[in-house]
Formats: sequence, structure tokens, C-alpha cells
Amino acid sequence: MEDCVFCKIIKGEIPSNKVYEDEEILAFKDIEPAAPIHILVIPKKHISSLIEVKENEIELIGKIYKTINKIAKEQGFAEKGFRVIVNCGEDGGQEVGHLHFHLLAGKKLGEKIIG
Ligand code: 5GP
Ligand code: ZN
Repeated sequence: MEDCVFCKIIKGEIPSNKVYEDEEILAFKDIEPAAPIHILVIPKKHISSLIEVKENEIELIGKIYKTINKIAKEQGFAEKGFRVIVNCGEDGGQEVGHLHFHLLAGKKLGEKIIG
């Protein structure tokens, strides 16, 4: 998408601190980290939000979770734990209209909404 900030990051038009990349997925550090480790994991394909995920994109979502698993192990916080958050839409607090998974780690995360 032309004016999508994450599509620009994928194309290299906006610099990012990359953590992982393959043909379908990119992971990079959040510019305003909410935890010592705050990584955004995104599909390279522009999907505007979780609610827009199509049947033929479900495998891609699975791959994103597999990538999160891999990053957690490689970066050494798999055992200590982490949190994955997907904000969707206005009430969900989504600000960037390109599906992204927040991966938070590196401290005991507070403010549990569930659990
Ligand atoms: P949302 O609120 O949409 O769930 O999350 C968007 C996230 O993208 C925010 O945590 C914000 O800090 C991050 N973000 C927005 N613009 C940029 C950018 O240009 N570069 C990086 N690395 N992160 C960004
Ligand atoms: Zn996009």
C-alpha cells in the first residue's frame, strides 16, 4: 500500500532495526518500546488488520507465530516468557493499518487485562 508506514519499512523506504526477515515475514524493533524487548512481527503482504485476514492467509498467520517462537528462542527470552498482542480496530487501539504482532519481553509485564 502506497502510504502504509509498515509497507515502506518492508520496501526499505523507512529504515528499521530488523530482527528477522524471510520472503513472507519481517520482524523489527518498535520505535517506541513498551518493554526492554519490543519487536513487531508483520506479514510482508499488506493485510490491514486481523479482521481482514482471509481464509487463504491463515497459514501465513501460523508462520508468524512460528517466527515469534523462533525469535524468542534465538534472543534468549523463551524461558523467561513474553507476551504477544494484536490490537485490532479503534477500540483495540490499532494505530497502524497493517497487521502486526507486538512481541514484548525482557521484564515481568504488568497490567494484565486478562488472567
Ligand atoms: P498499534 O498501536 O497500531 O498496535 O502499534 C503500532 C506500533 O508501531 C506502535 O507501537 C509504534 O511505536 C510502532 N511504530 C509506528 N511507526 C513506526 C516506525 O516508523 N518504525 C517502527 N519501528 N515502529 C513504528
Ligand atoms: Zn502495509
